[in-house]
Amino acid sequence: MPPNPGWIELIYGCVKSGKSRTLIDKINSVKNAIDKEKFKKEFLVVKHPLDDRETKGKISSFDGGSIDAIECETPKDLVECITKYTKFIFLGGVHLFGRDIVPLLKALVDTNVIIVATGINLTSKGKPYNYIPQIMTVTDVYDIRAGECFTPGCGEDAYRSVKVGDHFEPRCMKCYYKTEKKPSLVVVIGPMFSQKTLELIAKVKEKERKLKLNPIKNYKDEFMNKDLSAIFKWSKDKRYGLEKIVSHDGGSIDAIPVDNTSQVKSYLQKNKHIGFVGFDEIQFFKGAYPLINWLLEKGYSVYAVGLDENFKGEGFGDVPKILTLADTIISKEAYCTRCQKQPATKTQRFVTDTINGIKKPAKYDDPIVLVAGKDSYTSACRSCHWVPGKPLNKYDNILKLKKIN
Ligand SMILES: [Zn+2]
Ligand SMILES: [Zn+2]
Repeated sequence: MPPNPGWIELIYGCVKSGKSRTLIDKINSVKNAIDKEKFKKEFLVVKHPLDDRETKGKISSFDGGSIDAIECETPKDLVECITKYTKFIFLGGVHLFGRDIVPLLKALVDTNVIIVATGINLTSKGKPYNYIPQIMTVTDVYDIRAGECFTPGCGEDAYRSVKVGDHFEPRCMKCYYKTEKKPSLVVVIGPMFSQKTLELIAKVKEKERKLKLNPIKNYKDEFMNKDLSAIFKWSKDKRYGLEKIVSHDGGSIDAIPVDNTSQVKSYLQKNKHIGFVGFDEIQFFKGAYPLINWLLEKGYSVYAVGLDENFKGEGFGDVPKILTLADTIISKEAYCTRCQKQPATKTQRFVTDTINGIKKPAKYDDPIVLVAGKDSYTSACRSCHWVPGKPLNKYDNILKLKKIN
């Protein structure tokens, strides 16, 4: 039986969105509930020194709360703080670490450690912050915090940061992109068989029902009506007929097949009444990240569905970067078909040998998208997911040695 895996919760958002407040409240509620010695032994509270740099040795929130924390500047410093008793790590400022934070987080989860971290997803220029895309790909629980837009008279939920003089302020999507309509981005992720597409189908059907109740008299008078949708699919995905999106359990909606992102743009430029844009299998779209940036800059409501990880358990296409732009992430799970005990967050690929008919897990160096050969997929939990030939994570051994009694 596989061990109970650990998990990663990411508390993230723009500046002044109450991330540290949320983390401090969580730490305090654990601290108050358990024995002091147990807390000291099993819980680690750490921060990157550049996170709230004014308060040395403390995680502090902008509303004045604070809690003691060990400062760790590198993943190596963090490893040094870990003992065989460490079960929980509260981590302030995960976005400030270098690239090694990603394999370290993966290795920690594999040794059943639970991590609750805070981070800023986007810089004030709207770019993903350091290794946040990769961190978001290994995250299990997405806790986005909204700030309050600082534009005088606005006060809407803020998901972006801007630099004003020498400080940073939160901005809502409309004030940030300076658009006529309020842009938004929902991203639905999860492994195969987690019914992601069903979310998109349900959303579009809900809009169709609304339009039936309030029919639009003249589409030409409409400008970016959020109930009028265009759903795009990558034309290489030829399952279930070209102009439809079908979920594994049968529901379907119409879709426009495209094979490059300029086709999406030119369709929308010709159909100015459309305000809601959906994508299925966004991981296949080449240039999806710049396309979604373009859509947000124009004020569209975007709904993107896709695999965040390929069969190797690594970021798929532009999806990790797209996650940083979302104001809502819906993370779906399937059931692990191997242990049948734990929720599945991974896609497991098998390849059937055409000569002897034996089914084997696909190897690490197999192509991401198989063109020839018979392949099949199931969903798997972290413990059961198996990719022969996958390079070793350098932190796996370090942690295992630390964790052995
Ligand atoms: Zn605003
Ligand atoms: Zn399993």
